Amino acid sequence: MHIHYCKRQFNIAESYRTVFFPLKDLILLLRFRNEHETIEIQSEIYLNESQRSLPVSSHLVDDDRLNNTKPSKYRVVQQFFTNRKWYSYFYEKSRSKFTVNYLRNNLERIICIILYILINLGLSLYVIVYRSTVTKSNVLIVFARIGEILLNFNCTLVIILMLKYTILMLRMNKDLRKWIPLDDHIDFHKFVGRFITVLAIFHTISHMANFGRRTEHSWSTFMFTTYPDIGWIGGFTPLSGIILCIILAIIIICSMKWIRHGGHFQVFYWTHLLYLAFYIVLIVHARVFWKWIIAPFTLFVLEKIYSNLTRYSSDNGRTYILSVTIEPSNVICLYIHRPKNFRFKAGDYISINLPRIALYEYHPFTISSAPEEMSYLSVHIQASGNWTKRVYQRFKDMSDTQNVENDLIIHRADLNIDQATAEERQEREIIYCEEGDDDNERIVPDSRVHAEVAIIKGPYSSCARCVFDYKHVVLIGGGIGITPYASILQSLMAQFRASHIVCKHCQGHNYNRRNILENRFLKKVDFI
Ligand SMILES: Cc1cc2nc3c(=O)[nH]c(=O)nc-3n(C[C@H](O)[C@H](O)[C@H](O)COP(=O)(O)OP(=O)(O)OC[C@H]3O[C@@H](n4cnc5c(N)ncnc54)[C@H](O)[C@@H]3O)c2cc1C
Repeated sequence: MHIHYCKRQFNIAESYRTVFFPLKDLILLLRFRNEHETIEIQSEIYLNESQRSLPVSSHLVDDDRLNNTKPSKYRVVQQFFTNRKWYSYFYEKSRSKFTVNYLRNNLERIICIILYILINLGLSLYVIVYRSTVTKSNVLIVFARIGEILLNFNCTLVIILMLKYTILMLRMNKDLRKWIPLDDHIDFHKFVGRFITVLAIFHTISHMANFGRRTEHSWSTFMFTTYPDIGWIGGFTPLSGIILCIILAIIIICSMKWIRHGGHFQVFYWTHLLYLAFYIVLIVHARVFWKWIIAPFTLFVLEKIYSNLTRYSSDNGRTYILSVTIEPSNVICLYIHRPKNFRFKAGDYISINLPRIALYEYHPFTISSAPEEMSYLSVHIQASGNWTKRVYQRFKDMSDTQNVENDLIIHRADLNIDQATAEERQEREIIYCEEGDDDNERIVPDSRVHAEVAIIKGPYSSCARCVFDYKHVVLIGGGIGITPYASILQSLMAQFRASHIVCKHCQGHNYNRRNILENRFLKKVDFI
């Protein structure tokens, strides 16, 4: 395999996304997390010279998440006069995005988009034919009905895209995860949300115009009273439409980037919960909507019940922190007791709630320990905002007496890294001993009455689950974004160690491939 490097500067602004490029038998995973860090990466990776048009670099350059920090004026001027700047510019210009390789590498995405467009077109066509031939409605009613049917479909789809446990189950199937672009579910959810807004405006304007055309009642009677008796529940349809518009406007405005990323994530979180009111009013508003929503909503309710049941059970979600390592660079590592029934795969993430920090806040973090590690799971948290800074400060400021009170061990790697590493190693050995002792395992959780409680939801899957499907993976990470790779690499090492056998007779060392359960396909890993 030939790897060609074309070095280029990227300003990594915001991202907890893993950028995932499956190429024939090579997968490139990129994960960045550093608000102000400039990371130099190898942006071109070719399988061989003849496949020069692989779309890796165009993805990177086009992805505004990777380009949205402003370089300083000096840097802009400096870059303007460098050859590299012009080389990159003409190189990118000369490449068409829609090459055969681009289409091949994004086939499942393209199929899904075409399917989505066809469904929307099909539904619109059905309404046009039905309304103009069977009911012979006027054009405004036809427009309103097109808006209605598309809203029914999209409001159903938007909820399906957030069924996290269903997505997790789909991801478990190798063929399904290859053919359904599961990693795009949040982006698609955002897109469908925006489309719903457009459709809602279109649908509302069509009805408003139609009310203006009608002569039985005045426009305001149609709009603001139940008197004309429109709809299926007590003439409540126009009023419920107004309520829906208000709720939708709140949800959409509070989901905007400047709210989510502007330090007001909780505003986004709490206003997004209005979706429940939205769906209830929508069922009242639209006569047939319940038929669309019933199946996904049942799944959604089952997921919520499952999530709530597991979250508070000590075998799944309610656990406690064993120890904490204060790392340099404002990072803290929490070692959490792994509940008995908590199963996950390398690269998965969980939502954590620390009741002593904030009672109702859940924050997502990637599990950085290996799934083979049965006694604990770890997460690395960078102090970046309100909650994470409070977590960092709480454990950093804890005195030795408080540690004892809270049944907690704190390793201060920010002060003395060697000592902290030695302490951690010693602690792991104690945990392994406890783990081997069945009686001890039962006693430990109950005796920790003062322990730092942690409630975990999940695990939720990410595209990192796919790494074991490929022969060769290239993992590229920066800053705290390397956490899933820590889990993947530790998992590989654990599998490797488990496969180690020593011959009884000749004392020779060997590796048994049958013991490598997960890693049946993967041959090579590059970590940059
Ligand atoms: C799948 C995933 C995995 C992650 N893994 C890690 C990790 O391993 N290590 C790590 O340090 N950070 C990780 N994060 C980011 C971490 O969840 C946020 O930094 C943290 O929630 C910030 O909360 P805050 O109140 O301190 O910051 P705020 O000031 O409230 O927000 C800072 C940023 O974090 C985002 N954010 C805030 N709250 C949430 C939330 N509840 N859910 C999602 N995003 C939020 C906001 O968009 C904002 O841009 C991950 C995020 C996601 C989505």
